[in-house]
Amino acid sequence: MDSTQKISHLALDIGGTLIKLVYFSANGDYSEESRNGCSVVHGKLCFAKFETRKIDDCLEFIRFNILHHSVNGFLQHPILDSKSAEVVTQTETTSADVEPGMGGNDSGVQHPNGEALDKLYVKATGGGAFKFADLFKEKLGILFDKEDEMHSLVGGVNFLLKTVPREAFTYLDGQKEFVKIDHNDLYPYLLVNIGSGVSMIKVDGDGKYERISGTSLGGGTFLGLGKLLTKCKSFDELLELSHHGNNRVIDMLVGDIYGGTDYSKIGLSSTAIASSFGKAISDGKELEDYQPEDVARSLLRMISNNIGQIAYLNALRFGLKRIFFGGFFIRGLEYTMDTISVAVHFWSRGEAKAMFLRHEGFLGALGAFTSYNN
Ligand code: ADP
Repeated sequence: MDSTQKISHLALDIGGTLIKLVYFSANGDYSEESRNGCSVVHGKLCFAKFETRKIDDCLEFIRFNILHHSVNGFLQHPILDSKSAEVVTQTETTSADVEPGMGGNDSGVQHPNGEALDKLYVKATGGGAFKFADLFKEKLGILFDKEDEMHSLVGGVNFLLKTVPREAFTYLDGQKEFVKIDHNDLYPYLLVNIGSGVSMIKVDGDGKYERISGTSLGGGTFLGLGKLLTKCKSFDELLELSHHGNNRVIDMLVGDIYGGTDYSKIGLSSTAIASSFGKAISDGKELEDYQPEDVARSLLRMISNNIGQIAYLNALRFGLKRIFFGGFFIRGLEYTMDTISVAVHFWSRGEAKAMFLRHEGFLGALGAFTSYNN
């Protein structure tokens, strides 16, 4: 008996800040049919994320919730197709969801017939697929079948846009509108993935793409600077702060420079930000004198604006009209999406469109997952 097995119902994207898991679960509503000579398993795609610094929670989650399914012989080779896999709304999974002490033994993995499996392969992408390969092998007996990060990102987006209805949407002035994607007119587009850092990828087709730009001022910058400036402990706390803040307290607006009026000759309204954090130069205040809410709001605005502008410039450079934004930085947050959309709209004079994706944070993991089919 071959002791090599693919855990084909799990894929991982291990990034600088977060680990993303996509896994197939047949919990409760498992069914199987034969279609065109191959077995199709009906179930659900599930999504989970963990902070990379808490990788032990992720290991425990996999050991308890996922790994033991495969060795029970229950979900050994599910085939993902658009009809059999229902993409569920992303779930927040924290260490609280993991039941400690129920994770089985540490001494390796066994096939249902009792034979030891010494090679369990799992699709993995992101830098952590390299960095943590030894850890997964040691703790779970899993070997990584590594997928290229950009390839996975693009694969994930193409999969979503082609198979999941109501995946892409625009968000402007508080209005969310789903975009109907014409499969024959999908390419080219610009993919802007806002993770810890930002990658900008021009996509011309399935597996046809080029990373054309990026910026190190991304989600990691927002969270890192935010922690230093506001003393908050988590991303959620920082977002909550930003919710209640007013960026005009710290940002220097055109109106602050022009005595309250617009600079209409060049199309700048009095409320446009002339200089992010610029008021702090002359306010005579220390950091403690500002409300953390206002600091968080300015920071979120600064990062989102900057990414929106760089994205637009790259879209202009290559004549791309559609820009899809992904990555966990967005988190479906209205203020972030609105800022990015306004930046793209403003700079392109309405020519280019910012679009967002419902499964924005799991693009790479989904791409790695779908690569089991190749
Ligand atoms: P990476 O693959 O580089 O980890 P992600 O797409 O997972 O990138 O996005 C990471 C970014 O998402 C963080 O830098 C942060 O701005 C944001 N983020 C969203 N939710 C969280 C969270 N719960 N914990 C930490 N960062 C989060």
